[in-house]
Amino acid sequence: MSKVLIIGAGGVGNVVAHKCAQAREVFSEILLASRNENKCRAIAANVKAATGRDIQTATVDADNVETTVALIKKFQPALLINVALPYQDLPLMDACLHAGIHYVDTANYEPLNYAKFEYSWQWAYQERFKQAGLTALLGSGFDPGVTNVFCAYAQKHLFDEIELIDIMDANAGDHGHHFATNFNPEINIREITQRGRYWERGEWKETDPLSVRQDYEYPVLGSKPSYLLYHEELESLALNIRGLKRIRFFMTFSDKYLTHLRVLENVGMTRIDPVEFQGQQIVPIQFLKALLPDPASLGPRTKGKTCIGCDITGTKDGKKKRIFIYNTCDHQECYREVKSQAISYTTGVPAMLGGAMLATGQWLRPGVWNVEQCDPDPFMDALGKYGLPWQIQELPVAGA
Ligand code: NDP
Repeated sequence: MSKVLIIGAGGVGNVVAHKCAQAREVFSEILLASRNENKCRAIAANVKAATGRDIQTATVDADNVETTVALIKKFQPALLINVALPYQDLPLMDACLHAGIHYVDTANYEPLNYAKFEYSWQWAYQERFKQAGLTALLGSGFDPGVTNVFCAYAQKHLFDEIELIDIMDANAGDHGHHFATNFNPEINIREITQRGRYWERGEWKETDPLSVRQDYEYPVLGSKPSYLLYHEELESLALNIRGLKRIRFFMTFSDKYLTHLRVLENVGMTRIDPVEFQGQQIVPIQFLKALLPDPASLGPRTKGKTCIGCDITGTKDGKKKRIFIYNTCDHQECYREVKSQAISYTTGVPAMLGGAMLATGQWLRPGVWNVEQCDPDPFMDALGKYGLPWQIQELPVAGA
């Protein structure tokens, strides 16, 4: 039984708090801390109503290492689950090292003024975590996260060698707004407006943003236009899946969404550099975030399902084989259970499970690890129990 500190009281923080409370056998006490304690208190009240468990709350500025260290020393958790923003990854890893506790996150570090997605900054902590005898688990959301574990599971049980992986992420949910993002708008728009990139035979290949499309036949959802994006799990999976020849990532977007995005980009509203406005400096994308619906407010109005999985081709016992390993999740069922839509839900469940893997000792290993470097079996066993059942579909090799 472990004490856990959750940082960040947004859509994902809400789900992590609920799921840690549900995992009574793993987490003895829970502290939820964020920039604004009122948001933590509101989540704590919902958790109490849903599970009967009390969770503690606090204010913290996660950019400030000393403040976080002081909070850790007072509460004395075994681990910290970071579901604030990617900007906070490094200060929170520093705080964990100073205070001597394990670390889990769901998104790789990004510098505030430069939209660059790579693990180098966090992998650079490898020796420090090793020396301290502590574990840092990176990217334990859905994608990255469950998708990486799906690949590790396929490598361990389903294939002798994996050649091709397409990670397919479909959200067929409808929230009724003209334009909204399902998680933090600033982080989301920075990610999808960058140039596309995929890995093939040891090289990174670039594409114009959202210029490569395939209409993919998703289980349950049917055919959906899916666009090639760079996504951070490509970097670690390209290193950790043996024999891999190509890995790409695709996400669905509606025509309406893409039209709004194009206009916002063309008028400069997605810029991340400060501009002068009426005597003060503002960052357009941060102003845009203030205008867009709060992702946490989408929960009650989003209907439909998500389907996220890995389309994997390789060989088993000398024969070519292709599978799709996936989860589907219903927005309204998620809302009924934890008062969040499926994007927050599918991220929050694996974030809690990553924490549980450390708390129970199953994934404890000093150093900094991406989730596919850990044994997939206990994680895959627990996924369905905590709300994300998975399935495997055999596919014709010819379509790979
Ligand atoms: P939100 O913006 O809804 O929540 C972020 C929370 O962090 C807010 O409560 C915010 O405070 C708090 N916060 C921000 N800065 C600080 C700070 N300096 N100190 C303390 N608290 C801070 O985002 P989401 O919940 O949608 O996403 C959370 C994380 O999950 C993000 O890193 C996102 O990239 C990641 N994610 C990962 C996915 C995956 O599958 N791997 C998918 C979706 C999201 P305030 O409320 O005051 O703004």
